[in-house]
Amino acid sequence: MTVAGGEKKTNSAVMPTYSRIDLNFERGEGAWLITDTGERYLDFSGGIAVNLLGHAHPALTAALKAQAEKLWHISNLYRIPDGERLARRLADLTFADYVFFTNSGAEALECSIKTARKYHSANGHPERYRIITFEGAFHGRTLATIAAGGNKKYLDGFGPAVPGFDQVPFGDLDAVKAAITPETAAILIEPMQGEGGIRVLAPGALRDLRRIADENGILLALDEVQCGMGRTGRLFAYEWAGITPDIMAVAKGIGGGFPLGACLATAEAAKGMVAGSHGSTYGGNPLAMAIGNAVLDEVANDVFLDRVRQTALLFKQRLAEIKDRHPSIIAEVRGEGLLLGLRTVVPNGDLVAALRAQKMLSVPAGDNVVRILPPLNITEAEMNEAISRLDAACTALEATAKDATKPAA
Ligand SMILES: *Cc1c(COP(=O)(O)O)cnc(C)c1O
Repeated sequence: MTVAGGEKKTNSAVMPTYSRIDLNFERGEGAWLITDTGERYLDFSGGIAVNLLGHAHPALTAALKAQAEKLWHISNLYRIPDGERLARRLADLTFADYVFFTNSGAEALECSIKTARKYHSANGHPERYRIITFEGAFHGRTLATIAAGGNKKYLDGFGPAVPGFDQVPFGDLDAVKAAITPETAAILIEPMQGEGGIRVLAPGALRDLRRIADENGILLALDEVQCGMGRTGRLFAYEWAGITPDIMAVAKGIGGGFPLGACLATAEAAKGMVAGSHGSTYGGNPLAMAIGNAVLDEVANDVFLDRVRQTALLFKQRLAEIKDRHPSIIAEVRGEGLLLGLRTVVPNGDLVAALRAQKMLSVPAGDNVVRILPPLNITEAEMNEAISRLDAACTALEATAKDATKPAA
């Protein structure tokens, strides 16, 4: 857009939907990001829970290079052996019989929503299309997923919300029961809310939701886009509850930084998803599948996940110590595994900025929370470094607060 005087309003042609921080990273090494001027930042934002194994992981880079020299993309008109292999591995590791590959989390959710609706339609009940979702949820930015998430800020101005979503308070089982009607198809929930502020479901709530779904002939769909792929110390967060869902959306960590998502489902839940019912041009292309298999090689084993649990336990204790030392800054440590949140007393953005001043990256979330999302393979030394930078950031914030209360000279 040009303004009076004929000058360009901004010198960036990128649609201004993001308010970006003025940092220009040129390369990454594990848990570190290096700017174009050579400054090193400790990256505990992980591309928003995506860089599961940090930056430039040798095995992922090797897989990408090897596949790049052979074949990138062919479409889903033809067989993709690495995709069949990745789907089989994911199915064997989970409750699922089938996997549909996507390029993003929102698309994995779209497939989950469509699968749930189609299931009832295939059973002769097309009127059962409504899905119960939860306040504070985040499922993506497509038209259906903003309706599912129900966040007014994301819905505003985009026309009528896609119908068919009934929202209840997070984890409120009585509200879930009350919301069920003869039109209900499924319950859709994040076992741990990410964007919503690292809100963990009460123990047993997932089991209760499973039971409520079974009693009412509706499907249980999980959004593990953020909490899945080892982030909580199990390959998928539902494993902690000892239940299995019917449908699950996965993305973020599954590609370790390469755009990849997946919708997993049981054969029963996917009974309507026959040839021609759904599709994606890019979804599951050879390049994505090579990297997806390489990520799984690293993450899907007891040694790796056990180490995530050990690191997480230690890290959470250290974070609790920081909280105790800085009660005017941090109110609460939340989360499981390496999906951690600090609910702050000060505005969460202040702590994110103070951490950035210490050259450590974190991500704000809802509920005045700062998300701490290290790569799952961080070393103890990097964890110690994060703790000392967090300590310094809190001390700096305390000093500013003291200055602000000092009478003017
Ligand atoms: C990030 C996220 C999504 C959306 O994923 P995109 O890749 O941005 O489309 C969906 N659900 C959850 C829980 C997420 O954290």
